[in-house]
Amino acid sequence: MNFDVNTFVKIRHDLHKNPELGFCEDNTKKKIVKFLTGIGLEVHQGVGVIGVLKVGKGNKTIALRADMDALPIKEKSIHDYVSNSVGIMHACGHDGHMAMLMGAAQKLSLDRNFDGRIVFIFQPNEEHGLGAQAMIEEGLFEKFSISEIYAFHNLPGSPLGEVSTRVGQICSSESLFEIELNGIGGHSSMPHVCKDVIAIGSELIMSLQTIISRKLSPGSGAVLSVTEFISDGQRNILAGSAVIKGDVRTKNSADRDLIENLIDKICQGIATEHEIEVNQSFNTEFIETINAQVPTDIVIQSANELALDVLPDREAMSFSEDFAHFCNQVPGCFLLLGNGENSPNNLPLHSSYYDFNDELINIGILLWAKIVINSLPK
Ligand SMILES: [Zn+2]
Ligand SMILES: [Zn+2]
Repeated sequence: MNFDVNTFVKIRHDLHKNPELGFCEDNTKKKIVKFLTGIGLEVHQGVGVIGVLKVGKGNKTIALRADMDALPIKEKSIHDYVSNSVGIMHACGHDGHMAMLMGAAQKLSLDRNFDGRIVFIFQPNEEHGLGAQAMIEEGLFEKFSISEIYAFHNLPGSPLGEVSTRVGQICSSESLFEIELNGIGGHSSMPHVCKDVIAIGSELIMSLQTIISRKLSPGSGAVLSVTEFISDGQRNILAGSAVIKGDVRTKNSADRDLIENLIDKICQGIATEHEIEVNQSFNTEFIETINAQVPTDIVIQSANELALDVLPDREAMSFSEDFAHFCNQVPGCFLLLGNGENSPNNLPLHSSYYDFNDELINIGILLWAKIVINSLPK
């Protein structure tokens, strides 16, 4: 089978037409398994799909990762490969990530111009931050002795094929907190015999606002947002119970731990002061994504060799990526690949009109191949 980039444009359109949500990527996985088997790769299946390609005698193993899941969004575009699944679409370009990695697998299996082993990772459920961890728990790193890992994400609004990355933190963490207040509800004309959790919760929310402004150093880039305040209060009934929910983003784990600790302290203080019960939880769904020096240097060198536009020290992204869990295991590099500046390629990710740019497929395949050649030289 000769290499033809149009094959991967067609594959991308087919994946776009048939999107599947996180941990439900069954048909997507079947297509990838069939393709990788067809080009002669060793294929392993678990929660995701893994293809292995070994050339030469080299002992080094690197991993290249694409994500497979779509989003619960109703597609509004009218092109001829719109989603066949009502209310589900590839609005984050993961269809393109898969097509580029499949293309790279074929190109590298034909060219065989490297020395070592490549593990092609097709991971499920990136959007909820659960897929990478699930693959790690299946023993991905032990089984394949991976020593370096790479991932691409398309970036709308940036020039087509522009490569941007940085050493250090590239994506933020996301933690969700939930605080339950149990006071005493009652008649709104007799607040002194009640424990009104709206008044108490308001005090708690204002204290939470002081964490970023007064406890973290200026420029930490951390964000704490209270997004929900739900109570059982009604007209003439003071609230006896309430739930406060919110979201925390940080650029390093020390700030994240500090914020969690301060939320606990504030909750304990409020509970003591008002003699009510306060229970809180803090769950980090995405840790910070930290790029290592060596793989990032290889990415920058590879992009330069292909004469692509390169931003070697871009600003860190405010969004989160579960590739972070892979970078926590071995040195890794997460890079952004410009999806173009023209509509619909410059709409934000997760927009109901979003579409991955087919012109990026060939660029992505060439970049993957170059990274492999530079990381596993002959
Ligand atoms: Zn997304
Ligand atoms: Zn994405």
